Amino acid sequence: MTPPTLMTILAHPDDETFPMGGTLAKAVAEGKLIHLVTATRGERGIPGKSATETAVLREAELRRACAELGVQYLTFLDYVDGTLADIPDNVGAARLLALMRKSSPDVVVTFGPDGISGHPDHLAIHRWVTVAFDQYAQEVERPLRLYYIAPSEATWQGCGVPPPAEAVGGPVAFIDVGNYLVQKVRAAQQHQSQNPPFQGDPESKAQKMACHELFRLARPQVSVNGHEWETDLFAALSDVKRDKNYSRSIP
Ligand SMILES: [Zn+2]
Repeated sequence: MTPPTLMTILAHPDDETFPMGGTLAKAVAEGKLIHLVTATRGERGIPGKSATETAVLREAELRRACAELGVQYLTFLDYVDGTLADIPDNVGAARLLALMRKSSPDVVVTFGPDGISGHPDHLAIHRWVTVAFDQYAQEVERPLRLYYIAPSEATWQGCGVPPPAEAVGGPVAFIDVGNYLVQKVRAAQQHQSQNPPFQGDPESKAQKMACHELFRLARPQVSVNGHEWETDLFAALSDVKRDKNYSRSIP
């Protein structure tokens, strides 16, 4: 049987680690496949360095972070940092739909409508993924879940953006990443060009970090009322028998 797959679709190197690195490390430890899609190489992310030099450096940082977290598959969309809002949503969504058809994710994770920091690239990815997921969900005959990264203490620590006083949206998944914080720190420290917030000895840093990373269930759309908090992004899918003949070809 093919292991359940989590596809996370984000904009820049480091987006995978700072807000949700613990969740990725945990999913890997639990036998899941992770397919990370990163739209750009963060070319504009190092002041004073050329885009070409920066892209090489940040791709290498991302690959090292993926190794720390155990992420098995990485795809770049090869777009340029800071330009995603200029790309028509239907074009970006079509690229993502093609990737979803290839790697057949069970769970997809991306930015919420806040984009964590409101970065226009994050907001573009949020729109593309939502459109692509809705199309993909119509094509496959098994339950799927789409989650948005929710503002939390973890995103505050990782991304420097305080969570809003009152969050809105679907039910929240509280993922306990307490056992994976050292890995998260190690992954974050691979992104040295971004002055990662977790410098120093990983063991002691991890003790000061938020033990939960939060996500909001976006699809299926269910009312918050009467819906229990979730603690596992895959829980609702675990009873589903997967088709043994079903094949995938992750790029
Ligand atoms: Zn980003």
